Amino acid sequence: MGRSEVRIDLERLKTLLAGVNAFGFNPETGGYNRLGFSDAHMASIDWFEGQMRQDGLITSRDGAANLFGRYGDGNGPSIMIGSHLDTVIEGGAFDGSLGACVALECVRTIKDAGLSLSSPIEVVATSEEEGRFGGMLGSQTISGQASEEWLEQAADANGIRLIDAMREQGLDAAEIMSSSRSPESVKAFLELHIEQGPVLEKEQLDIGVADRVSGICNLECVLTGVANHSGTTPMNMRADAFAGLAEVGVSIPRLIAQYGTEFSRITIGKVELTPNHTHTVPGGGRILQSSCGTPMKR
Ligand SMILES: [Zn+2]
Repeated sequence: MGRSEVRIDLERLKTLLAGVNAFGFNPETGGYNRLGFSDAHMASIDWFEGQMRQDGLITSRDGAANLFGRYGDGNGPSIMIGSHLDTVIEGGAFDGSLGACVALECVRTIKDAGLSLSSPIEVVATSEEEGRFGGMLGSQTISGQASEEWLEQAADANGIRLIDAMREQGLDAAEIMSSSRSPESVKAFLELHIEQGPVLEKEQLDIGVADRVSGICNLECVLTGVANHSGTTPMNMRADAFAGLAEVGVSIPRLIAQYGTEFSRITIGKVELTPNHTHTVPGGGRILQSSCGTPMKR
């Protein structure tokens, strides 16, 4: 069979994807819930490992519960392909799971076609990529970017510590620190991922290749006004923190036009007003998170 005739088996891929998505499915909403280190997430890793083994991949896990399945001869540097199996709360069917499943389907196809590899392939299902604990633990671990201080304080929105969530699953977070991969052991990393924005779909393009990654910075902006009674404080005598906050919001397009590029993004994702009361002019406003996709012009 010539290389050009090798095609993946779409039905087999759909079956594999449905297998992963059987974990954490909420029939009431149609969403998927495999939060990092939840029972559903861990069960999906176990199941995916079983699929890898059936196909003859040599599987292993690191201290962060990243799952690797190696295919091909030798101990030389591998081409790592995959994505994450965890989801956000009520996540979509394709985010992460598709990339992991496509990687395994490619190996299955290569195996069926009897193609020989010049480099081994490692199918990877990275762990806790969606940031339940505020990071991208799977990739941080592989690339050696997880620090002990970070692991110590990482907690989810409900205050559950990463260390405790891992312990609950019989995992020791201390092992993360010794789980990084040497850059020489990985020749290349490929990830197929569903588009996270609306551009390709709007332009009816099947696929896009990322050639850069956004830098992210989180800023906090505090506005101080004077809290006062809404009925009795004349408009010209107010120091309304929300009015200031709104002004920051509407200035974003102008800021980007002046200092940014077509790749710049600024998002005010969360705000806090004090006292946050219907009948009170806000005395304080806080923009808790604004992320900038860089680069910005200097
Ligand atoms: Zn994803």
